[in-house]
Amino acid sequence: LIELDRAHLVHPVASYRGHERAGVRVLASAKGAAVTDASGHRLVDGFAGLWCVNAGYGQESLIAAATRQLQELPYATGYFGLGSEPAIRLAAELAERAPGDLNHVYFTLGGSDAVDSTIRFIRYYWNARGEPQRDQFISIEQGYHGSSAVGAGLTALPVFHAGFGLPFAWQHKIPSHDVYRNPAGPDAAAIIAASLDALESKIAEVGGPERVAAFYAEPIQGSGGVLVPPPGWMKAMRERCRSHGILFVADEVITGFGRTGPLFACTDEDIVPDLMTTAKGLTSGYVPMGAVFLSDAVYDTIADGAGAAAVGHGQTYSAHPVSAAVGLAALRLYEGGLLENGVRAGARLMAGLRALADHPLVGHVRGRGMLAAIELVTDKERKTPLPAEAEPSRRIFDRAWDNGLVIRAFGNGVMGYAPPLCCTDDDIDAILERTARTLDQTLD
Ligand code: PMP
Repeated sequence: LIELDRAHLVHPVASYRGHERAGVRVLASAKGAAVTDASGHRLVDGFAGLWCVNAGYGQESLIAAATRQLQELPYATGYFGLGSEPAIRLAAELAERAPGDLNHVYFTLGGSDAVDSTIRFIRYYWNARGEPQRDQFISIEQGYHGSSAVGAGLTALPVFHAGFGLPFAWQHKIPSHDVYRNPAGPDAAAIIAASLDALESKIAEVGGPERVAAFYAEPIQGSGGVLVPPPGWMKAMRERCRSHGILFVADEVITGFGRTGPLFACTDEDIVPDLMTTAKGLTSGYVPMGAVFLSDAVYDTIADGAGAAAVGHGQTYSAHPVSAAVGLAALRLYEGGLLENGVRAGARLMAGLRALADHPLVGHVRGRGMLAAIELVTDKERKTPLPAEAEPSRRIFDRAWDNGLVIRAFGNGVMGYAPPLCCTDDDIDAILERTARTLDQTLD
């Protein structure tokens, strides 16, 4: 398999030749929070695949829902006034649970095209409002909003930009709220003030509020290294956007569906965004699906104002009935005890990781619920990152793997955790014990 993979399967993120040299890790089967590789090595999946298998592996109700739907109606397009019962019911159930008046749902194949879709919808919204000059978009350094050629301009990853003229001239970023390394210091009020100032400066720089279409924020910056904003940060940014008439987009692709506790992290923050993106936990990764939520005001303006000819958007697999059926079954699981189990297991995980704060390598422990990270440093006082050449993230990942733990090792010495919400106490304890062992080996 490794040879065939080297020869034929493309893994762009792992950098082409580097990945080929290291060789692929092949997963063969999984159950609950445990995965087994092709050689029979059993591990706890501390990252739920790619922060997506929130319900855990082998959930019979998800498998049954997919199987039933495949037999009854494996495909129906969402184009041309057609639809399917599971997609309609899932949209209605999600709208009922989403914050505030986010009552309209557009289904995608994943998170990147959900973000891409928001850019289209937002442009249509401002055109319909007769304000086409509101065409500037602002997001945040260390943010991740997908890899599509347009949406990737909102993502703060130079490797996603090089050679494509990204970010586009209308895509701007302000510094992250990063509590650990913020020049404003760790104080919540100072960080919020600094972010508001940065937003104001950026708005002024692009020509004032009447030029700005939307601002994007993740409730917790996931791929940037699980950066948790200080309490009140999201609300302050949301309110400032509202005061300027700028649309506020919450990207809940990672944080949605119980990852931080509730179904949506915006609930934690007590905010209602104008648009919200989700994916991953929506179908628990069993089948691909994402969803864009639009508020009544945004949807009605596009639908009533623009005229159908001015609004073009759609994909063959949008609102796929099999994905929707799995989404409905996943909702039942989340609300039938999984969210509560996630909260309990998340508290155990966070307490256990915080207990590692005294380890000589651990500079910072952060997270909420079942979304966490520890940041490794060589000098705690100076917050010196691990030297990239001496301890590349791949080695930490490999050590953890050999110890029976799947984590996400970010390039800057950050170890990320996003276990399935079904984790038992034993699963969490295994994650913690194997983390401690991996850290000790890294120190040696
Ligand atoms: N937004 C956020 C916040 C994400 O974390 C991701 C993926 N990690 C995406 C968008 C893109 O989602 P996908 O990989 O499903 O296209």
